[in-house]
Amino acid sequence: MHELALVQEMLVILERVAAEHRLKKVTSVTVKMGVLANVIPETIAFAFEALTRGTVFEGAALILEEVPVEASCQDCGRQYTSSGTPLWCPECGSNRAMVLAGTELTVANLVGEEQ
Ligand SMILES: [Zn+2]
Repeated sequence: MHELALVQEMLVILERVAAEHRLKKVTSVTVKMGVLANVIPETIAFAFEALTRGTVFEGAALILEEVPVEASCQDCGRQYTSSGTPLWCPECGSNRAMVLAGTELTVANLVGEEQ
């Protein structure tokens, strides 16, 4: 379950942001999740809940936003987006694609109450 490690990594960043903004309680966290990030949303939510118990993030709503794949065709150079794999170029039909985005798991927003 690599989701646990991902959430742990995410929390390190989140804790720093929360401290910078002197938040005493975080009410919601928005995370952008690439459709190729290879994670299960339910598992992310479960790991988040388990790891935030007793922290300023306890009880915060976790909002997962799916980010489509962005790819560049290696045959004709066309850039396109796709909601998943396999990747097919809409221009020439090639599946030789270079993935530009859609594999990441990043914190997009954090809402909380200041001290
Ligand atoms: Zn193409």
